[in-house]
Amino acid sequence: MQKAEVLVLGAGIVGVSTALELQRRGIGTILIDRQEPGLGASFGNSGVIQREAVLPYAMPRNIITLISTVLGRNTAARLHWPSIPAMLPFLTRYWWHSSKARHYALATPYATLIERCMVTYERAMEGTDAKDLMSPDGIVDGYRSRRAFEAARREADIMAQRFNLPLTHLEGTEAIRQVLPHIAPEFCAVTQYYQSVIVSDPHALLLKLFKKFKKLGGQFATADAMDLTKTQTGYSVPGKDRPLESKHVVNALGAHAALLSAKFGLKPPIGLKRGYHIHFEPDPDAPLTATLADQAYGYVLTPKAAGIRLTTGAEFASLATPPSPVQVEQTEPIARKLHPLGRRLETTPWMGIRPCMPDMMPVIGEMPDQKNHWCAFGHGHQGLTLGPVTADIIADAIEGKSSKLNLEPFSPSRF
Ligand SMILES: Cc1cc2nc3c(=O)[nH]c(=O)nc-3n(C[C@H](O)[C@H](O)[C@H](O)COP(=O)(O)OP(=O)(O)OC[C@H]3O[C@@H](n4cnc5c(N)ncnc54)[C@H](O)[C@@H]3O)c2cc1C
Repeated sequence: MQKAEVLVLGAGIVGVSTALELQRRGIGTILIDRQEPGLGASFGNSGVIQREAVLPYAMPRNIITLISTVLGRNTAARLHWPSIPAMLPFLTRYWWHSSKARHYALATPYATLIERCMVTYERAMEGTDAKDLMSPDGIVDGYRSRRAFEAARREADIMAQRFNLPLTHLEGTEAIRQVLPHIAPEFCAVTQYYQSVIVSDPHALLLKLFKKFKKLGGQFATADAMDLTKTQTGYSVPGKDRPLESKHVVNALGAHAALLSAKFGLKPPIGLKRGYHIHFEPDPDAPLTATLADQAYGYVLTPKAAGIRLTTGAEFASLATPPSPVQVEQTEPIARKLHPLGRRLETTPWMGIRPCMPDMMPVIGEMPDQKNHWCAFGHGHQGLTLGPVTADIIADAIEGKSSKLNLEPFSPSRF
């Protein structure tokens, strides 16, 4: 038998950050995954530590966007129709929580997490060279229509004032070219957020945190977390050649988390939003100097170690649905018109799954009626941003320390 104080299930950014934080505090931890660390959603996201994202990602409720989504014309959101009936409990609640009043109210609890993203990353990265992967370039949101820009500007200014976020709105091609010198004149305005941090390779960042976890004495084991059982003293997972046992268990299984929690009586209405990426050769005469979110088409272009990465918006599809990177095909020609892109560097786009909750809040805390069984999932569009923050909350709870934060909005008991 291999024993530790805590089993952390899932070696994505949330699980690795949590295992590291526990081990850093001297709490013996075994991190478990069925594959090598960091091959889930955390592998290939846009790599933005989104300090600006105090408003979680809501469902657009305007009728034109909804109709174009239903007709398959919205490149930002795609519905895989056979998956939709099973996702209705998620989608109807997501719709409800996305009303303007409700959405703006959610910014208050969400910001308490977002505001701590860099402080907790700094601590996680201490003693590593992970900072070499980060640049403080911020993110730029681009708008193609005056109307879209004015609406977004109002919202951004409200949030900037409420949460003290530095940002600049730039209007007209001349002004926009100060931050994106090689961009075609497709945008009427952009909003530049300064505090967001760009990671050149999110997988490499995760591996550096994992290496630190191992260096501190943390253990890694390959096993299927779905085989988790309760024992008299805690929890157990059958390992390759011996059982892995602990007093506490943390469910950080990302898109697969709800499958496990259902076995222990908690059935959160999780929604799965898949996203894709593909890299392009950069043009040496026209570098992409900022990370750019094209708001009309819902894709992001970001300079990465592997090339210029295009990441897509959301595809609502079940776990079992084979990849269908339609949104890559739809957005590539649009991105090429906007910024010079060389040849494709992969033949098949990568796919990751964002685990989303209908109230847009992650699930962080102890599972109802399951002592020492902790939830750390449902981080949706901001899991890279919130990995170390979640780790800090879970480690405090396992140590029995009370948090200064109001954790009720994230509680697993809310479902
Ligand atoms: C295209 C795209 C762009 C994104 N951009 C950003 C961004 O810029 N900034 C940001 O903050 N977030 C971004 N996100 C969201 C972010 O990537 C996710 O929220 C985050 O990676 C989730 O991390 P996780 O650790 O919860 O899950 P994962 O990284 O998916 O990890 C879950 C782990 O559980 C393991 N697992 C699953 N089932 C089992 C099992 N039965 N047994 C053992 N192990 C199992 C998997 O192998 C995996 O390693 C983006 C997502 C996508 C798809």
